[in-house]
Order: sequence, then C-alpha cells, then structure tokens
Amino acid sequence: MDRQQEFVLRSIEERDIRFVRLWFSDVLGGLKSVAIAPAELEGAFSEGIGFDGSSIEGLARRSEADMIARPDPSTFQVLPWRGDGGSAGTARMFCDVLTPDGEPALADSRNVLKRTLSRAAEKGFTFYTHPEIEFYLFRGTPADSVGDGRTDPVHPPVPVDTMGYFDHVAGGATHDFRRAAIAMLEAMGISVEFSHHEAGPGQNEIDLRYADALTTADNVMTFRTVVKEVALQQGVYASFMPKPLADQPGSGMHTHLSLFEGDRNAFHEPGAKYELSATARHFIAGLLRHAPETTLITSQFVNSYKRLWGGSEAPSDIAWGHNNRSGLVRVPMYKPGKAQSARVEHRGIDAAANPYLAYAVLLAAGLKGVEEEYPLAEGVDEDVALLSGAERRAMGIGQLPASLDHAISLTEGSELVAETLGESMFEHVLRNKRAEWVDYRAQVTPFELRRFLSWL
Ligand code: GLU
Ligand code: MG
Ligand code: MG
Repeated sequence: MDRQQEFVLRSIEERDIRFVRLWFSDVLGGLKSVAIAPAELEGAFSEGIGFDGSSIEGLARRSEADMIARPDPSTFQVLPWRGDGGSAGTARMFCDVLTPDGEPALADSRNVLKRTLSRAAEKGFTFYTHPEIEFYLFRGTPADSVGDGRTDPVHPPVPVDTMGYFDHVAGGATHDFRRAAIAMLEAMGISVEFSHHEAGPGQNEIDLRYADALTTADNVMTFRTVVKEVALQQGVYASFMPKPLADQPGSGMHTHLSLFEGDRNAFHEPGAKYELSATARHFIAGLLRHAPETTLITSQFVNSYKRLWGGSEAPSDIAWGHNNRSGLVRVPMYKPGKAQSARVEHRGIDAAANPYLAYAVLLAAGLKGVEEEYPLAEGVDEDVALLSGAERRAMGIGQLPASLDHAISLTEGSELVAETLGESMFEHVLRNKRAEWVDYRAQVTPFELRRFLSWL
C-alpha cells in the first residue's frame, strides 16, 4: 500500500467515515457512484471493485460486461452534506475503470483525458483549465415542468428570481444559495474564484480556480453534484441544461486554457502582440481549425445547439478576438506582471459537457495546432455577429454546426476525435448521438402546432 492509500485509511478511521463512494463518469459525463464499506477499501485499492459495465451508458457491451473500478486515493474527500455532524460520514474517491485484466477500459472518459494529458506531457506541457460554470435555479421540481412526459402539458420551468447580470439582491435566494454552495465546495478542497448572478432570471455563475485539467474535470463533476444537493436543501432545483428557457441566455461552461512548461506559462511572451507566444497562437489556430469536428463533444445534446444559435453571448462563429466576446475563442486582456495568467478562453463548451472528453478534445486540437504550427489569422475586433456573410467569407470565418445532426456529420470523419477518444468510444458516442437525433426528429413540437395547425 502506498502513502496516499494509507492516508485515506487513516482519515477514514479518524473521521468516522462509514461509507466510501466510488465515483466515475459514464460516456456522457453522468456521475456514477457505488458505496462500499471501509473494510472493503484495502481490496478496492489493490484489485478494484467489480461491477456490470454493460448497464452503464457507453462502458461495455453485454458480452464483455465485467468492469472494475479502482479508486484514486489522491481524490479522497469527505462529502460535507452526509453524516450526523462529524460522525457516521461519507467520503468519495474518483476511480479508474479497468477491464478484468487490469487494462484501462476503452470507454473510461477519465482515462481518455489522462491519455491526452500524457501526450502533452511528452512534449513538456502541463494543461491547465479554469471553468466558469453557469446554471439556472428553478422553483419546485422538474416534474412541475414536464409532468409525466405524456399526458401533462410541458411548462417552461420557473426561475427563482427575476434578476440579471451581477445584480445584488438583499436577502436574495441566489445569494444564500451561492454562499452555501461555495462553502461546501471549499470544504471539499475546490477553490472558487468568482461567483455572481448571471444574465438570465435565476441564472448563476461560479468560477473555479485554475488547476491541471484532470483536477478541474473531477471538480466539474463534483461541482454539478454539490450544486444540485444545495439546491435541494433550499427547496429549489438546479439545472445545467444548456438552454432551458427559449428567450433567455443559455448556460455555458467557458473554460480558460493554458499550457505550462514547468513553472513557465508557455502562452506568454513579453513584448509579443497581446503578450501571446507563438505556442498560444498555434494552439488557438488548432482550436479554430478543429472546431467543426470537436463541437459534438463540447456541445453534446440536441438542446446544446439552441444555446449556440440563440445569441446571448453564446458563439456561433469560428472566430477569435482579443477581448472580444462574440466569437468562439477570446484572448482576455493581459494584466501587466501576470505572466502566469496569460490564457485563452473557449466560449463554446456548455455546462452539460462531459468535462473529461471535452478537455481532451480541446487539448488535442490545440496541440495539433502547436505540433503542425498552424498559422493564425488576424483576430476580429468587431462583433462577429454583425458582420455580413461576405465579410465573414473574406475573413475566413466559418460557422459552428447548427444542430446536433450537423455536428454528428462533421465528427463522423474526424481523425482527431477518433484518435483522442479511441475507436470504440468514438463509435459509441456517434451511435448514442444519432439515436438522440432520431428521437428528436420524430417530435411534433408545440412550435409547429402553434404555427401550422390552423394555418395549413
Ligand atoms: N451565458 C452565455 C453562454 O451561454 C455566456 C455569458 C458570459 O459571457 O458569461 O455562453
Ligand atoms: Mg458567464
Ligand atoms: Mg467567460
């Protein structure tokens, strides 16, 4: 047993932990959890815990169903919302998913990110990310909106307030909510940098401090769970659905990205334009060139495309700009003396993405740009949305896919995504997304009934 594993066993005893939840992600970024008794932990560290992989989205076929979850002791944390005030508590660890032979499972999202991070490490790079996560708080429960899904009409969800961007509300529900959520995140070792009311009614944003991408991806998984737990405690519910309200902004998960070489930020070059190094410029060029094929992974649901094409500061143009929030990539204003914080912001990725796969494909796209020294066109200074079609063409600005169907067709031929996810996960994602599109296409929507029923 190594020192980290011993530390976990000691903490469990000292803190009176009765349940240890083993966490991992399915292919869509859904959190999976199995609780074991502390007495099982030594075995879990050495051999892992067996489970039926075929019952979990994307993990295994029925004919090769046995899978093993082996906890990563560096991710041990006590869950602050469980237990009786300091006793009989519950802790969690993220797991690696393995086959019975002890090989990484082909469909383990966390391993896809780890593999891509080691490719970056071979080139001397560490990949840092800093997510800004948006979400809505609604009254009641989701069932108030969707009923039983067949007989009841569907009503839009009702936000907890009617406030907007940065609004400060004395005694406001969202203030209390953010305070409680942040206290819980910090108790789990997740540092929060900023939090505020977002533009939509009941919409909030919480930004996590930057860290290596595996840590931030784990943190995003934890974040979504914590936010849902705190919402339930306060009698409301939280949703990371990319566009829950047709006429209000969607929920993005803008992520700031940078590559470090040791302690040095490889994106920073003193004196260069915007203080951006050649590495950063090639990286941005990689993000842009591969955007059409990676969007399926960063915006993975039918509903994601309602956000990308719904205005409200969500991008639809494959453009970059300095301090410009209208395209896919923004280079934030450089703060003098802050070389460590030079970075690029990806604005396409949404709050419901699988963070492991999304960060893996963004890193792969950026690295490809660096390896092949892709040239970067001039940044755009104006609001891209206001440019005419001809102006866009002249500037070489392409469009993000407009629907899930369109995104699938752009990803199908992608070597970059196939290589990053691995053939079998790649095929699985495509199958899953095609099935979602087929279900969606079959719907006759309230919009169609309203527009056509009496007219036609
Ligand atoms: N909610 C917007 C989105 O969907 C982003 C607003 C912002 O710039 O923070 O991406
Ligand atoms: Mg925001
Ligand atoms: Mg942002």
